Amino acid sequence: MSALPPCPKCNSEFTYEDGSQLVCPECAHEWSAQATETATESAKVYRDAAGNVLQDGDTVTVIKDLKLKGSGGTVKMGTKVKNIRLVDSDHDIDCKIDGFGAMSLKSEFVKKV
Ligand SMILES: [Zn+2]
Repeated sequence: MSALPPCPKCNSEFTYEDGSQLVCPECAHEWSAQATETATESAKVYRDAAGNVLQDGDTVTVIKDLKLKGSGGTVKMGTKVKNIRLVDSDHDIDCKIDGFGAMSLKSEFVKKV
């Protein structure tokens, strides 16, 4: 009973580990066990409203007026937000907006500059 995955080429179950590589004895295919793992638990990709990939430190603009809970203020459409930080939650962007301070935004409401 081996926990190793079957060969991705010929589906053989007789794969074995050779260092960080997995090797199939039937078709001689070699692949990296590491890469397979990384692919399955790959980091979350954050995209803006236009589908651009966002990264920490990016500058974005807000694409619609966003009403703030509590304070009653509104972040106007077109507001520039510098140096965003991506977080893994419902509001996936942490940032600071001039005049408003620290807040969280949703990536679907911003566009990369
Ligand atoms: Zn194989």
